[in-house]
Amino acid sequence: MTRFIFVAGGVISGVGKGVATASIAKILQSKGFRVSAAKIDPYVNVDAGTLNPLEHGEVFVTSDGTECDQDVGNYERFLDQEFSTVNYLTTGRVYQAVINRERNLEYDGKTVEVVFHISEEVILRLEKAAKKDKADFILVEVGGTVGDYQNLLFLEAARMMKHRMSDRVLFVLVTYLPVPENVGEMKTKPTQHAVRALNAAGIQPDIILARAKAPVDKPRKRKISDFCNVDEQDVISAPDVESIYEIPLNFEKDNLGDRILKKFGLKPRRKDLREWQKLLRKIRAHKKLVRVGIVGKYFSIGDFTLMDSYISVIESIKHAAWANNREPQITWLSAEKYTEGGKTLAELKEFDGIIVPGGFGTRGIEGKIKAIQFCREKKIPYLGLCLGLQLALIEFARNVCGLKDATSREFVKDAKTPVIDVMPDQKVLLEEKRYGGTMRLGSYPCRIKKGTLAYAAYGSGNISERHRHRYELNNEYREALQSKGMVFSGVNPDRDLVEIAELKEHPFFLGTQFHPEFKSRPLRPHPLFRAFIKASCKT
Ligand code: GLN
Repeated sequence: MTRFIFVAGGVISGVGKGVATASIAKILQSKGFRVSAAKIDPYVNVDAGTLNPLEHGEVFVTSDGTECDQDVGNYERFLDQEFSTVNYLTTGRVYQAVINRERNLEYDGKTVEVVFHISEEVILRLEKAAKKDKADFILVEVGGTVGDYQNLLFLEAARMMKHRMSDRVLFVLVTYLPVPENVGEMKTKPTQHAVRALNAAGIQPDIILARAKAPVDKPRKRKISDFCNVDEQDVISAPDVESIYEIPLNFEKDNLGDRILKKFGLKPRRKDLREWQKLLRKIRAHKKLVRVGIVGKYFSIGDFTLMDSYISVIESIKHAAWANNREPQITWLSAEKYTEGGKTLAELKEFDGIIVPGGFGTRGIEGKIKAIQFCREKKIPYLGLCLGLQLALIEFARNVCGLKDATSREFVKDAKTPVIDVMPDQKVLLEEKRYGGTMRLGSYPCRIKKGTLAYAAYGSGNISERHRHRYELNNEYREALQSKGMVFSGVNPDRDLVEIAELKEHPFFLGTQFHPEFKSRPLRPHPLFRAFIKASCKT
């Protein structure tokens, strides 16, 4: 019998509801329970695939090819478990399903209403996710902030579930306690208002996670308890942390796991966050730096730098650095500044390794190519992810194979030398403007050649990795590139597509058509990131 734990947010957005949700799930998992998690996004987009990363952060891709919110990535990283399309809901998805059903006369001529039919669809989907994952608990993160118009529908579904099976549903509200500079005191009032907003939706929180700069002290816990109808012990401190991986341990300081179990009348089956604690000791230990530069373009909105667009890449670097006993220092390098080449490129020497991550469109392309050339020629360890592989091949074609016009059809439609070309099955989709959810998505097998960097990293010849792209190396140019020293170390056996390319005579120069970053875990760093960081530590 699955228990449903809804996690909603109050006061402001961006207080780490996703990692809080992942952390609660981690705690319950560590106590011997099977857990699952689902993310509800209140936007009308059917999935995250059509969203600009600057608007909504990274598009995370699951094994089954669902393009979803980055929080699903947090769940996978914390739990070391794979999720799929059933673990991800958006307003668009839910409405689309209900409308399709209505068109197929599946409602038997009934009037289809927002409340009941839409909320019923939400409940159905959550139950389906719980069933698929055979979960004792499913954590359901409701996107947005309570009081928003957009997520009311989902809260309504949650309220209905509580009414129907009150002993199997629990509500956690993540709030924020500001400390205004001129007052110097932690304020609980916004939390009180957030609880009222939730009450207005017919929901009483059982637990309040109090996000704040510092731990919440006793008087404030008491105040929140008195004003918000929760036990003092159910006001859990969630202070700012240096590493998100500390959060489960922090929650446990306030006995969050046992509080939750008690409410459901359950007892821990075991207690084991030992591996996690070991990881934390490693993270906190004093270590030498490894300096990694990311040459990309989705960094800033106005005056603010965002890290969310490349969150899985960043986490993968951290996992691999810790495994190599190094402290990762990650720097954003805006590709456009390298467009002209010249002296600016010399700053790349300051780094132990450079990554060009995935991307779309033409902005910043020439700058990235110049940066890759610099890494190749100056022997700076280089890891190219998806677009980062395609550009490495274009650079090699231009500057080593003498194919001066080499480019991708993504940038030049009538390219003379399309070293990177659109995949045949993608051509039709693009012509018909069928963009949503149609890329080459999710896990595909890849066969790795012995005696290569890739083989040494994976220690295996058969792997499977996640994809998200429409373009590929044009096999007509394979021979030309190979004859000049490019090694195609990983190939998809079914379609003969190049998945990994690398160079010899270089400390580490490797690109992947897939996105290894989606499979890195804190306790199980991705082999390619691990190898890249290892090589970067040597320079
Ligand atoms: N834009 C490229 C493609 O569609 C690369 C995609 C990516 O980096 N994820 O093939």
